[in-house]
Amino acid sequence: MLNKILKDANTIAIGGHIRPDGDCVGSCIGLYQYIKDNYKDKKADVYLEEFPESFRCLKAAEEIHHEIPDGVNYDLFICLDCGDKERLGFSGHLFDTARRTYCIDHHISNAGFAQEDYIVPDASSTSELVYNLLEEEKVSLDTATALYLGIVHDTGVFQYSCAAPSTFRIAAKLLEKGVDGPKIIQDTFYEKTYAQNQILGRALLESILFMDKTCIASYITKKTMDFYGVGVKDLEGIVSQLRVTKGVEVAIFMYETDTNIYKVSLRSKDQIDVSRIAKYFGGGGHKRAAGLTMAGTYYDVINNLSERIEVQMESLAGRQEKRYI
Ligand code: 5GP
Ligand code: MN
Repeated sequence: MLNKILKDANTIAIGGHIRPDGDCVGSCIGLYQYIKDNYKDKKADVYLEEFPESFRCLKAAEEIHHEIPDGVNYDLFICLDCGDKERLGFSGHLFDTARRTYCIDHHISNAGFAQEDYIVPDASSTSELVYNLLEEEKVSLDTATALYLGIVHDTGVFQYSCAAPSTFRIAAKLLEKGVDGPKIIQDTFYEKTYAQNQILGRALLESILFMDKTCIASYITKKTMDFYGVGVKDLEGIVSQLRVTKGVEVAIFMYETDTNIYKVSLRSKDQIDVSRIAKYFGGGGHKRAAGLTMAGTYYDVINNLSERIEVQMESLAGRQEKRYI
């Protein structure tokens, strides 16, 4: 329960992972709003990197700090949706200087880097875990909206296998608070700017199928991003679109962050544990959605990842063969 986590803490910093996604922003704002609504004697602040414009529909988004003012430190740092210390980015400094640290997360790769934690790798989202800590009757519409947004994004609008019956029950409770579900889904998940659609189209056009058409990959260079006038935040959703290709088990999307340095997103449909592949190369994530950074050319990256995908595919095939003996 949140009361226990917040005990003795008058000042609380909330932080999430770098390049914040919907669940990260939703869980941070949801928790922040709840503390603001129900613990008037405590001061909470949220620290996050810049995030997609569409999340500004959450009222408290305006109050998020994108840098650390001089000389601040907190009684308690709560990190949300962040699988390891490095991925806290600039707010890692506040984690280091806080008197106490607590982590709420659902990354399978999270080894428990805070003093105390609440980590459930099977949970749909960190937003769902935050909801579990709250008292239902004290959840305001603003808190409910933020948590609903987080759940929508990490479940791909309730589509992925991580969306459990508990997820739907919580979503129903949030809707009962008055959340405008269709608006959140349309405005923050599906809606794209013209430039975002153009870059998506470009990535789909350039995609290649390999390993007997079970894998698909595509990439965007810095030059292409400049040409279309888009930033990293505009690339969200490309990997999901690659993933839905018929017959594909693994989708790989990468964009160049520096010459021959790629930020890679991995997605799988049913069988391959992409978190294991990401972890092997220093990244992390979930079974069906993970990420990492890799050096080399586009083809080097594909080759290295393919090797690890092949290892898993072979062991799956081996297991299936055994079943028929
Ligand atoms: P995405 O592909 O959308 O960036 O990330 C998919 C999932 O993998 C997210 O849950 C994200 O937190 C995690 N992830 C992405 N990149 C990295 C990384 O470089 N390191 C770790 N540990 N996790 C990552
Ligand atoms: Mn998440």
